[in-house]
Amino acid sequence: MTMPLMRPKRKNPILRTRQMNLPPWARSRVAMGLTVAAAEGRFELQVCEDCATVQYPPREACCACVSPRLKWRPQSGAGQLLATTTLHHSNDLFFRERLPWRLGLVHLDAGPTLMVHLHGDVGDKPQRVTVGARLDRAGRAVVIGFPPSETQNMADDKMLREMTSDPRFRKVLVTDGKTGVGQALVRSLVKAGADIVWVGHAEPWKKMPGLDDITALPQVTLVPLDLTNGRSVTELAGEIGGKVDIVINNAELHRSFGIAARRGTDAAKAEMDINYFGLLRLAQEFGPALRGRAADGTIGATAWVNLLSIYALANFPPHGTYSASKAAAHSLSQCLRAEMRPAGIRVVHVFPGPIDDEWNQNMPPPKLTPEAVANAIVKALRDGIEDVYPGDVAQEWLERWRENPKVLERELAAGG
Ligand SMILES: [Zn+2]
Repeated sequence: MTMPLMRPKRKNPILRTRQMNLPPWARSRVAMGLTVAAAEGRFELQVCEDCATVQYPPREACCACVSPRLKWRPQSGAGQLLATTTLHHSNDLFFRERLPWRLGLVHLDAGPTLMVHLHGDVGDKPQRVTVGARLDRAGRAVVIGFPPSETQNMADDKMLREMTSDPRFRKVLVTDGKTGVGQALVRSLVKAGADIVWVGHAEPWKKMPGLDDITALPQVTLVPLDLTNGRSVTELAGEIGGKVDIVINNAELHRSFGIAARRGTDAAKAEMDINYFGLLRLAQEFGPALRGRAADGTIGATAWVNLLSIYALANFPPHGTYSASKAAAHSLSQCLRAEMRPAGIRVVHVFPGPIDDEWNQNMPPPKLTPEAVANAIVKALRDGIEDVYPGDVAQEWLERWRENPKVLERELAAGG
């Protein structure tokens, strides 16, 4: 049984910060399908459209009938453990620093046999396991054998913590505490066991509803942070930048309307100043510090979360300038993801549908509660998921966008 994670000792400041070594990350183009699904928390394998054979490892043509018509399909992962082994030696620097490491051979009920990393709660053969895919520190999918049902302290497994960004015992910065989502996030993080939650507040002299409740929590510290002001971001980074393990950038400015219903560019500029330039200022100041501490023990720096919007994928004309600012933020965040990956820091994109707040007042339900968005973010950190689409609206838009972005554009222009 996995032992609960103990609070790690304070770091000895004289010791050198360790360098991050990534696990082997080379994958063929066709094998990327496994990573694409794992990034959203699914385990998918190729299935032959002609003879229904499930394939592993990923390939160009069916291993049974040589058909090239292979499609990625979700798998249950149920299987039988055939053999286990424990590595005590490795020439790979990543694994060398993390030995011993347990591996197993699993025969999936769906057909293929595969080599998996083993969760500590999986015993010796013969026994049932559930295989799932996770992203490793290099951002590539790996397959893991889990016990068939939830065990106590399952998330605290040493191998699994290498793959995920559990907030437990970590220090988190939430950039905006004045919104419903910000406050729900703080509560969720404290519940998830975060050690310290720094909560940004652009106007600390202002009394905001709900803020007193969260600052009463012993883990929470209110910090001045105005993303439109470079000096404010620099000052905070100087103070806490070297300690933050997870940055959650939830600060956003949302105004309705598109181009014709508004004069001038003031509102659009204000949106860009927080949603796009705010992220840029934050990433410039906090990115390097996070990158430097990714190998800092079991609770080192691990993740960066950006609250985007499903409107980042396709412009929603009634919220036209907001959509444009979120599309810009999405693009910038892809750049951040590429720059953080070599250090082993995961950048999580959150694409919620309309949230139940004042700016979506005229949107018909279903709307997301701030709690639902917050829980989706904490779950994504725990499960090591990279792209999150919380809520039915976001899920539906995503499906339509994947099917045909041009059709979605036309439908949105016609009102939804
Ligand atoms: Zn086939």
